[in-house]
Amino acid sequence: MRFAAVRSLSLSKKILLPFILLLLILGLTATLGTIYLIHDSLNTSTNQHLEESRDRMLHQIKAVERHLLHDSELLTASMIDGKLDPSTFQAQSKALQLSGMVAKLLNRDDVAKIENIQLRQFIDHAIRSGKPRLRFFDQLSGEPTLALALTLTEDESPQVLFLYHPFKQAFFNPLLGSTKLDYYLFSKFGDPLLSSDPGRELPPISSETLDKAIQGISTTSNIPGERTRYILSGVPLGTTDLLLIGVAVPTKQLETLIGSLATRSVFTILIILIAGGLLFFKYLTYLTKPVEELLAATRRVSDGDLEYRLPVDPDHEGDELNQLSFSFNSMVEQLSELWQEKVSNERELTLAQEELKYKEILETKNSEIERSHQELRSSFKELTALLQLNQTMTSTLDLSVLFDRMLSVLRELFSCKLVLLLYDSGSNDLEFRKSVGIDPEVLKDVTFELDEGITGRAANTQKLVYVADIKNDNGNLNYKGRVSPRGAMASVPLVNKNRLLGVLNLHHEEVDGFNDNDLRLIQAIANQAAIAIENSQLYEKARNLSNTDELTGLANRRHFQTILQREAAQAQRFQSYFALMMIDIDHFKQYNDTHGHLKGDVVLRQVSSLLLHNTRGIDLVARFGGEEFVLLLPKTNNHGARAAAEKLRSCISQAEFEGAAESQPLGKLTISIGISVYPDDSKDVFELLDLADRALYQAKDAGRNQSIIWSDTFKNAAS
Ligand code: GH3
Ligand code: MG
Ligand code: MG
Repeated sequence: MRFAAVRSLSLSKKILLPFILLLLILGLTATLGTIYLIHDSLNTSTNQHLEESRDRMLHQIKAVERHLLHDSELLTASMIDGKLDPSTFQAQSKALQLSGMVAKLLNRDDVAKIENIQLRQFIDHAIRSGKPRLRFFDQLSGEPTLALALTLTEDESPQVLFLYHPFKQAFFNPLLGSTKLDYYLFSKFGDPLLSSDPGRELPPISSETLDKAIQGISTTSNIPGERTRYILSGVPLGTTDLLLIGVAVPTKQLETLIGSLATRSVFTILIILIAGGLLFFKYLTYLTKPVEELLAATRRVSDGDLEYRLPVDPDHEGDELNQLSFSFNSMVEQLSELWQEKVSNERELTLAQEELKYKEILETKNSEIERSHQELRSSFKELTALLQLNQTMTSTLDLSVLFDRMLSVLRELFSCKLVLLLYDSGSNDLEFRKSVGIDPEVLKDVTFELDEGITGRAANTQKLVYVADIKNDNGNLNYKGRVSPRGAMASVPLVNKNRLLGVLNLHHEEVDGFNDNDLRLIQAIANQAAIAIENSQLYEKARNLSNTDELTGLANRRHFQTILQREAAQAQRFQSYFALMMIDIDHFKQYNDTHGHLKGDVVLRQVSSLLLHNTRGIDLVARFGGEEFVLLLPKTNNHGARAAAEKLRSCISQAEFEGAAESQPLGKLTISIGISVYPDDSKDVFELLDLADRALYQAKDAGRNQSIIWSDTFKNAAS
């Protein structure tokens, strides 16, 4: 069986439904039972009624039989001499007629004249037996009749008393007139003889019923097709005869009665059922209401309303539902507490998580800030380096100065060793020019062909070559075996407008000592340096083409050297002599630092002019570079040179130079002078220049503002 459909019903309906079903079954059973009982009892009472009526008829018929016998005895008692007195008989037979009886006296002739054979045989039989005989005739004079025959005398002319009683409607009607019953008389063969209503006939009697009736068993049954019930019984008459009597009652009223009774009982039962159902429903609602409330409360609680409580009736503490409500409330109470605990725990957890999250975010942000700080620092460092380099590179066109500054900036930035090689387009190779961290003397004259070693590779490809560990690179030539650098090496070509100018090698002691940022910065510096180098080279080239110094208007170094070589050649040829004078302004850097470069330039021009005006016309005054001057004094020996030098020295020291008193340590602008003489000191012009220079530095060492002749210092050293 499947009860799934019931599950969706409410609890009260779930209980009510089977109850109503039960009630219906009970009601139906009760109704059917009632109908059956009513039917049965009505049948019984009908049967009783029928039997009573039949019995009445039976008694009446039997009474006729007794009357016949009794009357015959009465009549024979009044016989005189064996014969009945006709007048007495007359009177008596009249009296008998009142009770429906007919009495006749018959003689032999009368008997002989009887046409009804059965009747005649009956009377003959009575005559022969000499005893009263009773016989029932189905039809005697057209009517069922009970007859008695008795021989009064037994002589030759016997007198026969013939008494009979015909059964007519009038005989039975008074018996059953008020009962609405119908009666029927049948012969022992089932032939209808008489009925209360001649228009109505009973259906033919079955042989079975007939047999039963003959055996004295009454049969009660309904007439099929008609609403009629009847009883059929046999009435034994005389010694051998039998009369069948049937009493019938229409059952239509009975059925109506049963119907109305059944309807009433059904209604009654229905009303009782409805009333009982309603009462039970009310009771059930009363009972299930707390359960429904409990259910609703469970729903509300499960929906999250933990404040909800069920009403508890303190007057009914013993009530299970009340106890359930109480338990439910305490359960919700506990649940609510647990929930609050959970919520507060969750809140704490969330707070902790948020704190953790913020902490993490903070840490991430901090590390981001730190990273961008580092990036900024490194960018700043890079920018500063670039700016510094830029400033220094653009502030000088002196290649040597330029290289010095570029290398010092790079060394400061990366703490590495540096080697600069310049490209010589004539020889088509790279020549060592400058180094930092590695002795330049060791690397002197080192050259690389293009594509030779790491340096050559950088030059040839015009791309930066980075070797994380030069130990593992077979391009490492250790500068032709002169030094053995370790660690990382970056070889960056100096290229401007696709023109190779040189290669700069950076050596870091650590393996992989340069990172990507470093390499980028190195490349940027190299690019910038390349531009500056190119500019300087161009400038130098241009300057070398002219003979005069731009600032002072004096002969420039290149021109001086040409003249010097020519003078030396002439002096050699004519065995002549000449003096070289190297002049350097004392503490000129201080002057520049105090008053600025422009004022310094003014001083340089002023000094130049003084030198020019205080020398002979044949003397050549040149600017050797910076604040250094060189003088060629033809036909001048030691003495002449000293005198000339002293003249110049005192002339300068006495001259007025703006601001010299504040900036110069000696309170005035002074010069130091170094002198060498041809051919006494040397016949080589370069050596002469060098000796004059060395004499100059001796003058500086000796306290400045003085002139020193190289040969004098030589003599001093010798003595
Ligand atoms: P001392 O020679 O007495 O030892 O001190 P000094 O200060 O002169 O030393 P140093 O040779 O180191 O400085 C030379 C200075 O000359 C440095 C530079 O500022 C300045 N100088 C060189 N060329 C020029 C130039 O063309 N114009 C100006 N204004 N200054 C120059
Ligand atoms: Mg100098
Ligand atoms: Mg100087």
